[in-house]
Amino acid sequence: VGGAGLVPRVTPISRAAILAVGSELLTPLRLDTNSLFVTEQLNTLGVEVAFKCVIGDDRAELAHAVRTALDRVDLLICSGGLGPTDDDVTRDVVADVLGCPLAEDESITERLRTRFRTRFKSEMPEINRRQAMVPAGARVIENANGSAPGLWIDHGERVVLLLPGPPRELKPMLSALLQGPLRDRASGVALRRRILKIAGRIESQTEEQLRPLYARWREWAVPVDATILAALGQIELHLSARHAHPAESEAAIEVAVADVLATLGPDVFSTDGRNLEQVVGDLLAAQRLRIALAESCTGGLITSRLTDVPGSSRYVERSVVSYSNDAKVELLGVPDATIREHGAVSDPVARAMAEGMRAHAPVDVGVGVTGIAGPDGGTPEKPVGTVAIAVATSAETRSRVFRFVGEREQVKFQASQAALDMVRRMLA
Ligand code: ATP
Repeated sequence: VGGAGLVPRVTPISRAAILAVGSELLTPLRLDTNSLFVTEQLNTLGVEVAFKCVIGDDRAELAHAVRTALDRVDLLICSGGLGPTDDDVTRDVVADVLGCPLAEDESITERLRTRFRTRFKSEMPEINRRQAMVPAGARVIENANGSAPGLWIDHGERVVLLLPGPPRELKPMLSALLQGPLRDRASGVALRRRILKIAGRIESQTEEQLRPLYARWREWAVPVDATILAALGQIELHLSARHAHPAESEAAIEVAVADVLATLGPDVFSTDGRNLEQVVGDLLAAQRLRIALAESCTGGLITSRLTDVPGSSRYVERSVVSYSNDAKVELLGVPDATIREHGAVSDPVARAMAEGMRAHAPVDVGVGVTGIAGPDGGTPEKPVGTVAIAVATSAETRSRVFRFVGEREQVKFQASQAALDMVRRMLA
């Protein structure tokens, strides 16, 4: 007991701020993705991101943001602006705000010189010596994939981390810190998250059905938090829980997932993060079934999504983009008379496409999609967004006419989503 009393007690890190530095991140051309990765990683240690900012290469703005962050959080992570040029200001500004004088670390300079000789077969330009400047008391974090080392600076009980901007440099450096010094400083109450994906429903109605569950989950010994998000053609339900033992969080989330499945049934298509094309692919592969697609308004999008999944050659047999009426007749055997009688965008034509695909290809599942993606081509009876989808198997053909809302691209995506979802439900 006597010895323990001598160890200075350090408050665990629980709240962080992220500053993404770089003028290019303030243009419409580049997006700050580092902060998403940093957030995800910090959450696994139970560290919450209280706020984040994107700042140009501007000393005054950066100094202001650093001061604000130090007032409000335990951990500040800056990404970018550690390069050798004058517009790379992060190191200087942070050292200035923290009152730590910078000094050249000769061992870093030596490493940089060696790196230039071996990688670029040239001498290191003198301006790169800036990257060897280290604030007094800081720890240097090795950068295996680039020239700028990272820096860990203790500021009282707070920690400031400077990491390089390129994601392939930042990611391994942060991951290493997470296994060691950052893990040791965090509270250890890790956050666990699970994403459920739901199709064939609207958000408000889903939320209404789930709300009684949320209330119950909040009362648990390990409470589960839920956030519902509507995306195009699907709804996501994000569940999260925190506990010192990750297994406890996982167990609570597992029970919450079972509650959702009991409430929403087969509308939940994914409980492990897989997307719809992966789920459909896994069903086809598990049942050793092959699929062929006849796509009109989706222009091959469904096939493209299915073939985004590695290993899809096991179940994707072929696809026909039968955009014109002639193609539907010649390649799929859709009767001319059916098109004349019902129109190319109709339930009977979608069925004939799906069944024609099965007749022409050695497959178990045939899909037919025909619709009006817009912006032109709509009529009062068949407005833009009308899409007929059919799925044919050896047992039956199911079909449905949908009315999607949105621009051309959104109609196409929703049609692909609905077609994949129909296949999923027929195979589940
Ligand atoms: P280097 O010396 O290697 O250039 P740096 O720390 O100075 O490192 P920056 O010059 O700020 O890094 O950024 C280099 C590149 O890294 C940018 O062009 C951009 O492509 C990428 N990058 C920087 N910040 C981010 C970010 N927050 N999210 C995603 N990519 C980023």
